Amino acid sequence: MFNRLASKKEKAGRKNKAKINNEAKKIDIPDNLYLKCPQCKKTINKNDLSTNYYKCPYCNHHFRLKSKQRINLIFDTFKEFDDVRYESDPLKFPNYLDKIKDLQNSEEINEAVVTGNANINGINVIGIVMDSYFLMGSMGHVVGEKITRAFEKAITLKCPIVMFSASGGARMQEGMISLMQMAKTSGIVEVFNEKGGLFINVLTDPTTGGVSASFAMLADIILAEPNALIGFAGPRVIEQTIKQKLPKGFQRAEFVLEKGFIDKVVDRQDLKKMIYQLLLLHGVKK
Ligand SMILES: [Zn+2]
Repeated sequence: MFNRLASKKEKAGRKNKAKINNEAKKIDIPDNLYLKCPQCKKTINKNDLSTNYYKCPYCNHHFRLKSKQRINLIFDTFKEFDDVRYESDPLKFPNYLDKIKDLQNSEEINEAVVTGNANINGINVIGIVMDSYFLMGSMGHVVGEKITRAFEKAITLKCPIVMFSASGGARMQEGMISLMQMAKTSGIVEVFNEKGGLFINVLTDPTTGGVSASFAMLADIILAEPNALIGFAGPRVIEQTIKQKLPKGFQRAEFVLEKGFIDKVVDRQDLKKMIYQLLLLHGVKK
């Protein structure tokens, strides 16, 4: 008797499940339509994100951007330079080239930085945009070379530089050759300075390691996006070294602004206007 009842219930349950599954199929909800904000933990529709400068509509958390998204938000035109050989593996690091090729295919960019002739509201600039989705925006010898050539181009064209930095630092797979890029890029910034060039850099989340210790902090004007992680070594390494607890908000944009490392924290939706005004203020002609 109980067995028969149970099996009847099971059958009804199975029927209901099948019905629900069929209905779900009819509605056809894509798996990747929503994401969770890492800061306020609320669920956000991805379409709402792209129409809100890729910021959380609830807590204003600035999501990390791919270089293409950044270029679309800031520049009116962008013509990429194509002047560096992209695949080379100076230390013969295991699987390094395969990883690079996979990323080139999936991200549709050649390296962790995109450089080119760009335009903001009619002003010609050289644009340099780093991409943290490509090996964490790390600086290998191709990144160093691309940045150096972009500065050389700016010197020739007498153009200001507008950069967006995003990097975990040096590229582990290139060892010492990666660290040498710090000196190389710092050197070209100095040459650019001597020629009187204007260099505006926006530090985005994260700008750390060898990039923060070289060209990123050498700009004439340094802006940052809210709450961006900015520093050299990570907070855990520092805590373990100095054996002290670090203050709240340590290495975030607002904290480094208070300590005088940067000039201003600017919300993403105001960045284009701010950069344009800074260019005009410094006498850059259209
Ligand atoms: Zn949020």
